This record gives sequence, structure tokens and C-alpha cells, in this order.
Amino acid sequence: MEQGFVGERQASLDAAQVSAGPYADLKWYCVRCLREVAREADRLVHQGPPELEFRNPEGQRFRILLFRDCPGGRAVGTPSDLHSWFPGYAWCYCLCRGCGMQLGWWYEATGRFAGLIRGRILSALQWYN
Ligand SMILES: [Zn+2]
Repeated sequence: MEQGFVGERQASLDAAQVSAGPYADLKWYCVRCLREVAREADRLVHQGPPELEFRNPEGQRFRILLFRDCPGGRAVGTPSDLHSWFPGYAWCYCLCRGCGMQLGWWYEATGRFAGLIRGRILSALQWYN
């Protein structure tokens, strides 16, 4: 079953809300260098599943989490509207400031947010487990 195919299910950021869950102090780290990259308090949670799954034009699947800020992620590249998963938002790459690995993408329109690839970040709770 295909989910989040480009153009099929458009994620609406108007519906996004800032998470106020029980783990608001949780932090997210780069899986490669363990630098702190984002905070749970900045998570944007959609109605529906907490993780969104998308495919790029090459068919590669990505599960991403959305954050309204990603202090540990550096924006790289010229923002592009091409194949954007969030219509109206241009994307560029979001690389870890610690090790340079791609964490996900920055999306920008009037404001901006980051979509981080689930498998490239880990949370403190998982870390301690
Ligand atoms: Zn890193």
C-alpha cells in the first residue's frame, strides 16, 4: 500500500500543532555523532500518524518527523519547489552541524520548519534504554 506518495496526500501545515506531550523535555540527537539537533518541544504534530512517510521521485521511502526548529541542522543548497512534499514550501538539505550527515530537509515559505529522517535521529529516552 502506498502512503504519502508525492501529490497524493498533501500534508497541511495549517493543521499542525506544537506537541504538548508528556515528553516535552526530550531531546533528539544525530545518530552518527550524538550531537543534540532538535527538541521535542519543537515537534510539529499533525492530525494523524506522528510520523509521515514520503517517497522521493527515485522511489526511496523516508519516514520523517517535523520540527519547527532544528538548531543542530545547517541549511545547505538553494531552496527548490521541485517535488516538494509540502506544497507551497521550498526545500533544501538539512545537514548535521556536528558531522555533516544529512538529517533531513528544511522547508521554507513565510516561515520554515525541518523534516528530519526518523532513522537518522534518536531521542534521549531511546538512548537511555
Ligand atoms: Zn551528526
